[in-house]
Amino acid sequence: MLGFLKDRQRKSLKARPFANEWLEIIQRNVAFFVRLSAADQSELVACIQVFLAEKNFEGCADQEITDEVRLTIAAQACLLLLHRKTDYFPRLLTILVYPSSYLAEEQRPITTDIWEEGKSHRAGETARTMGSMVLAWDAVKWGAADPSDGKNVVLHEFAHQLDYENFAADGTPALATRRQQLAWREVMRTEFASLRAAEATGIPTLLDTYGATNAAEFFAVSIEAFFERPVMLRSQHPRLYSELQNYFRQDPVEFSAERVKGR
Ligand SMILES: [Zn+2]
Repeated sequence: MLGFLKDRQRKSLKARPFANEWLEIIQRNVAFFVRLSAADQSELVACIQVFLAEKNFEGCADQEITDEVRLTIAAQACLLLLHRKTDYFPRLLTILVYPSSYLAEEQRPITTDIWEEGKSHRAGETARTMGSMVLAWDAVKWGAADPSDGKNVVLHEFAHQLDYENFAADGTPALATRRQQLAWREVMRTEFASLRAAEATGIPTLLDTYGATNAAEFFAVSIEAFFERPVMLRSQHPRLYSELQNYFRQDPVEFSAERVKGR
């Protein structure tokens, strides 16, 4: 669709009235929502209207696609879009929802030449060329209900979609200027190396060590921590926090439910 037609359609979608029942579902299921400012709540709701109109949902393994399923996923995904000019996860067309964590065939590199194959339990996955995303409904609900445990499958998988916006799965999203790109790469390289070193030596870390897998996973787990553990992330990784804050144009400390001693 031509850009100006798409913009016009989105504008009218955003202006649609938002059903009270929908608002109640979000308030009930998505814990961060009531902590947002009134302006951010309105922006999020407008963004959800566009998201729901543009993305297909499909239930798998007898999972029913209800308003609750659609809204609980959309509200969390749209948190990543606030305050920014966005094309609403343009590479994603369809969200496949399973009732619970599913078994997936997997090929995983052990070294550069040896690949391990087998089945693993997963709560979600997406890939640059898939055009789709898989989510487990139980993990989506747990992630939404606890806004400060540092784990959120929807934020994680949609972070990957942001990473793909510049056509690579390299842990660097589309950034406006060359200067921003250089600063981003430098900070991410240093932080990624220190997470890898901590994982190798068994030192406990705020960031999930799954982020030591590669730069793309580092980006996704950083975003989970940015929104769910912002106070700790800002104090332990100030440069990482600052890059994420510049990119998202948000300061999640302001709406955080994080329990930190002395705060
Ligand atoms: Zn991932």
